[in-house]
Amino acid sequence: MRTIPLVDLHRQYDSLRGEIDAAIAGVIASAGFIGGPEVTKFEAEFAAFCDAGGAVGVANGTDAIEIVLRAMGVGAGDEVITVANTFIATIEGIMRVGATPVFVDVRPDTMLMDAALVEAAMTPRTRVIMPVHLYGQCCDMDAIGAIAQRAGLRVVEDAAQAHGAEWNGRRAGTMGDAATFSFYPGKNLGAYGDAGAVVVNDPALRERIRMFANHGRKEKYTHELIGQNSRLDPLQAAILRVKLRALPAWNEARARLAASYLEALAGSGLTLPVTAPGATPVWHLFVIRSPEREAIRVRCKAAGVETGVHYPLPLHQQPALAGVAAPSLPVTERSAREVLSIPLFPELTDAELRRVVAALR
Ligand SMILES: *Cc1c(COP(=O)(O)O)cnc(C)c1O
Repeated sequence: MRTIPLVDLHRQYDSLRGEIDAAIAGVIASAGFIGGPEVTKFEAEFAAFCDAGGAVGVANGTDAIEIVLRAMGVGAGDEVITVANTFIATIEGIMRVGATPVFVDVRPDTMLMDAALVEAAMTPRTRVIMPVHLYGQCCDMDAIGAIAQRAGLRVVEDAAQAHGAEWNGRRAGTMGDAATFSFYPGKNLGAYGDAGAVVVNDPALRERIRMFANHGRKEKYTHELIGQNSRLDPLQAAILRVKLRALPAWNEARARLAASYLEALAGSGLTLPVTAPGATPVWHLFVIRSPEREAIRVRCKAAGVETGVHYPLPLHQQPALAGVAAPSLPVTERSAREVLSIPLFPELTDAELRRVVAALR
């Protein structure tokens, strides 16, 4: 019996092979290996997909976070409020600019930033609130936006797992001052290597981000500031343009599969993912919870079903953060012990889904 993988990138390539091969060949034939039309077109098309004013392609989603904060002037002595239930990249950017992450707990239903805890975490040094739209579901951006506005703080969405997700009709990437995306291969929109983008409406901030990502340059050899080399690779841009056209259908397929899982696993005793009223998730991951997680993983493995844990050790408990004040985050800590991601990708077949359900039941 073939193992059902958590993600299957072979099937996605098979469905677009001709177009992707042609896109790659086109870039190579042009011999334009830095910047160029594929990057510019992808930036415009991705911004349009997000309903945003513009986008800047960068090398990966981690750099995207660092560069946005730098361009906003966030640095040493500043604090950024975020969550510990996320991938390490969320805070690498914060810490690399010299700022300090301040963690708030997540909601017990969605496992996303609990907006009710944000105000108590604010200090005179707080500059930015960074909600993470984890698993493909947007945080409560009405509440977070209102808090930020009252306090005069910026909002940067970590939308690495939420391409196309919506909150009350608005798309991830348009609800803060800027949003960062990753096109890591396994994301809903994935490149064939590392890639990322910043989506931002304010043209002045967008141009500052572009400068930071491209050696601080305004013109070829005039460097206005000390930047870095974090450009979107045109080969990746060309691939992403092909895949972006398929993304709406892929996100719909994920939603259909998620609905099937929710129906088939109802009453199983597993805690199923909760969609907040107002949220339209894109189901980057389908995350169930159980105190019996380890035993379930073993049984799934024996039944040929691959599973994952996102994430087993919350950020405030990571060895790399030993020097950062670690608050008690009971909901985050409990989630980390109980979360289990089961196979969900657009090409998953109904027969495979039934096999996953049977293994879990
Ligand atoms: C994937 C991811 C990132 C960063 O992505 P890379 O492109 O791998 O650098 C940031 N935040 C979250 C929540 C992610 O899942």
